[in-house]
Formats: sequence, C-alpha cells, structure tokens
Amino acid sequence: MKFLLIVLSTCLLCACNPQSNEVDEAGFAIIIHGGAGYITADRIDSTSAQAYRDTLKLAMDTGYEILSRGGSAVDAVEACLNILEDCSMFNAGRGSVYNSKAQQEMDASIMDGHSLNSGAVAGVRRIKNPISAARLVMDSSKHVMLAGAGAEILAQHYGLSMEDSAYFYDPKGYKRIQEQIKRDKHGTVGAVALDRNGHIAAATSTGGMFNKKWNRIGDSPIIGAGTYANDNNVGISCTGTGEYFIRTVAAHSVAAYWTYEGQQLDSAMATVLRDIKNLGGEGGMIGLDKYGNLAWSFNTPGMFRAYRHSVKGENLQLFRME
Ligand code: ASP
Repeated sequence: MKFLLIVLSTCLLCACNPQSNEVDEAGFAIIIHGGAGYITADRIDSTSAQAYRDTLKLAMDTGYEILSRGGSAVDAVEACLNILEDCSMFNAGRGSVYNSKAQQEMDASIMDGHSLNSGAVAGVRRIKNPISAARLVMDSSKHVMLAGAGAEILAQHYGLSMEDSAYFYDPKGYKRIQEQIKRDKHGTVGAVALDRNGHIAAATSTGGMFNKKWNRIGDSPIIGAGTYANDNNVGISCTGTGEYFIRTVAAHSVAAYWTYEGQQLDSAMATVLRDIKNLGGEGGMIGLDKYGNLAWSFNTPGMFRAYRHSVKGENLQLFRME
C-alpha cells in the first residue's frame, strides 16, 4: 500500500511540469524572432547582418523597457512588433512579400495569456501595423478574427494609420527581401513576453509565404497554430511553412506537451518541430514558460532570434551557430 502511494504521488508529480522554479523567481522577459529560413553567414553580407541585429535589438529593448516599467506583456509584444513591422527588412508590415497577384496581404495575431482573450487579422492590405489591428480586434470587438475589408474598416474607425501600396513598397527593402524570400520563404516576426505580474502574451505578424495564392491565410493569425499564450503554461510564436503549423496546431501543441507530458519547453518545441518536419514542413518557434524559462527551436539553417530576461541577461543570434 505504501509502495502504491509512493508510485501514485510520483505519477501525479510527473503530470505537472517537473521544473522546480518558483513563480517569483521567474523575473520578466521578452523573446522575439524575425523569421526562420536559409539564414547563413555566407548569404547575408555583414552590413545587412548588422542592420538585422540593430533592429532586432531595438525591438527587443523597446518591449523590455515596457516590462521593466511595470507595463503589460500585451503592450510589450505589440510595441516590439510595431518596430519590426515598420522595418522593410522583415516579412511583416512594410516589408511584406508579394502574393501570386503581386499584392501584399498581411496576417497577424495576439493573445493575452491572462484572460485568454485573442485578436487576429487576416489578408489585410492597407493597415500600417497589422499587429495593432489584431490588438483592436481583441480589445474592442467581440470577435477573435477579422479578415480583409472588415478588419481594415475597424482599424480605420479606431484611428490606426492606413497606408497605400506605395508605403509598403520600399524598392531597396523589396529587392532584398524578395531575393531572400525566394530562397528562404520566411521572415515573419513574433514576440512573447512575461511581465512582472506573471502574465504572458504572444504575438505574430507576417506577409505570409512568398508567391502564395491570393487570399491564402497561414498559421500566423490562427490562435493555437502560429500564436498561443496562457499564464498557466507557456507563450509561443511560430514561423515557417504555415500549412504544417496549422495541421499540427503547433503553438498549442507545445503548451500541451509542456502541460500534460511535463516536457521542458525546449523539448516540447523539438517534438512539435519533428512532427512538422515529418510532414514536410520547416520553420521554428520561440517561447517562454510561466517560470521564466526561455526557449527557441528551428529545423532550418537559421532563425533571427533574441531574448532579454531580467535575471538571465540577453542573447541575440541570426545564424545556427554563434
Ligand atoms: N508562417 C508564415 C505563413 O505561413 C510564414 C513565415 O513564418 O515565414 O504565412
């Protein structure tokens, strides 16, 4: 009987996450990505690499400053992605790739892990910052996802900046990203934050896949596929061939492996990315858990990624080995 009780209590412990960290040791943190793909040192010249590093750092530090002043995880991830959307080097907002009709159609989503409230926009073409439109859907509508013109009307109604196609077309950035994306097909941006109150938020914004069919929607605006946040477990933002991330419900699957199988965040990510690879997909993800553990994982040669943690410090990497 005593033996049975010991076995039973061990099993119960395994069902919870085995990490011993206390919540109050979690600190606060932000982790970001700028897309996964064939990002190798020989494909990116040193000036561009420095520009990527500078912009990622600016975005990360902006989110981190909000957290350090006691701001919310939701505010931090939105502000962080606004900077990446405004930069034409990334496949989101201004630098979004073109679809098969030579149009830019952008997708974005945001999730508040405290309330599980979420917002997303899909196939928008005029909103300067799609992630802020996703935030509006979350905060100011009773819906989770709005597509196309309906999303643009809501954004305009609430005063978000609208731009015509000339804004999104920056010839230098366009040439660079189209060349890069023809090979890499990636470049999405994402952020996950844990604030001082223990709240997690995640956000993802993208122009989608290069040469995608018009009106195609990927994983990025789909809660549970490209983005997920829950204060009880983890926050995740994904990048890669979206169809496979939808089919594996990638972001939520990481939360499920973490919660129900007690896997550490990095191995939960590796499990999901292995499933994606087996189906023929590729990409990566970033995230953190409620204890402040940070992780990233990718099955491509590189992924733009960075984190800053109040206790663990900071780290920024472009290529696989640095
Ligand atoms: N996941 C995005 C999509 O499929 C693309 C990417 O992350 O590069 O739309």
